[in-house]
Amino acid sequence: MATHPDYSSLRKELLNGAISCVEQVKHHLELIEKNKHLNCFLSVYSEESLNAAKAIDAKIKLGSAGKLAGLVVGLKDVLAFKNHPLQAASNILNGFHSQYSATVVERLLAEDAIIIGRQNCDEFGMGSTNENSAFGESRNPHNPQHTPGGSSGGSAAAVAAGLCHVSLGSDTGGSVRQPASFCGIYGLKPTYSRISRHGLIAYASSFDTIGVLANSTDDCAKVLQVIAGKDDFDSTASSLPVPDYSGVLKNSSNKKFRIGVVANIPSESLQPEIRESITFASEHLESSGHKVTQIDLPLNEFILPTYYVLTTAEASSNLSRYDGVRYGHRSTSAEDLESLYRNTRTEGFGEEVKRRILLGNFVLSSDHFDAYYAQAQKVRRMIRNEMLKIFSTVDLILMPTAPTTAYALGTFSNNPVEMYLSDLFSIQANVSGIPAISIPFGKDKNGLPIGLQFMSADFREDDLLCGASLLAGIERFS
Ligand code: GLN
Repeated sequence: MATHPDYSSLRKELLNGAISCVEQVKHHLELIEKNKHLNCFLSVYSEESLNAAKAIDAKIKLGSAGKLAGLVVGLKDVLAFKNHPLQAASNILNGFHSQYSATVVERLLAEDAIIIGRQNCDEFGMGSTNENSAFGESRNPHNPQHTPGGSSGGSAAAVAAGLCHVSLGSDTGGSVRQPASFCGIYGLKPTYSRISRHGLIAYASSFDTIGVLANSTDDCAKVLQVIAGKDDFDSTASSLPVPDYSGVLKNSSNKKFRIGVVANIPSESLQPEIRESITFASEHLESSGHKVTQIDLPLNEFILPTYYVLTTAEASSNLSRYDGVRYGHRSTSAEDLESLYRNTRTEGFGEEVKRRILLGNFVLSSDHFDAYYAQAQKVRRMIRNEMLKIFSTVDLILMPTAPTTAYALGTFSNNPVEMYLSDLFSIQANVSGIPAISIPFGKDKNGLPIGLQFMSADFREDDLLCGASLLAGIERFS
């Protein structure tokens, strides 16, 4: 079967009948089977996706197929799909099946996308390497001794290895963009509130954003167009109209942007090939007529502590619902209500999740609330205000997605704080609520993908996609 670089380039053949959706799904199922060692999927819906493909082939013949007909999608194990298992890669949700579908899932299905399975990730999205999963780590298709990144590691590895066209992940602090960068694909984190969170398992609700992992900007545009927009089930979802992202992308070559390149990154903290890639990309953009200037990220030293104080606080509250009474795992060794809670949570949660619940409870406790939580809220507001000021002078900010390419598995086994520090470039967008995209930009000398990142002002995903397309195919190292 012919292989296509992405769904957008395959679509014509699907619609004119040269390739059927059934063939397409079979092809992906075979690849999933061949790549089991990557541990991307926690469940594969073989029969169901083949049946869906058959029905969509029939619709294509009738000319009534939806906008995403035959798009094969994987879902990070934090997105609800009615009557299917949902666990956030945690033992605490053992045996849990969702009773409804997330809004994004409903919207994909309504446009005839096919959900092929549920993908591995860090437990409740907490981690940067996918090693905090109760199901073992996913592996990087470019080198299986390396992490695919996290927390949406299985989702990124699956797209990079061609196991599905697109994955939906969640990005609370880089979990779509960093794995996309490590696996050599695109990872789009839209503006907070651009996409309804209904049916997304909450980690830190004021940061959580659903995002798209794909092999092209076209695919990101098509999917975002379908899943974005107002939703009666999520009052925080924005009611701003959804632009025609694919249409905007077609005219991207006419656009000239003001681009700020982040200067205040100590060069010793960046892998040399990534530093050179940034320089190369900014020179390319400048010589193509864009206005490139140097900028400093505001309040840089406060971004990480602000993120980790606020997200652990929100997580400790969100995860209090897993008590052994309503969902999933229930301890069999309990003697009374209190030991039911204690034993269930002790047995069900992994180490990193427990660490964050403890941290979150600490920063919310009455003795420390003002010193940590309340302060961090104020700093968050200051960071966002400073970012908005920058966007009055530039359209896009260019910086690396992560300080290095994919780590070897086990790099942070005994050092969670080192792992937190590695998130510095990706959490900026979440703390500010602005959108960002990770763009594949060649490979380092070990053959591991390099990712560059654009950030833009609120709701300027159109600029992000255009900016990303300007960098396609011009990487410094390949
Ligand atoms: N590394 C970040 C964290 O552990 C990623 C979180 C996310 O985006 N889900 O918090």
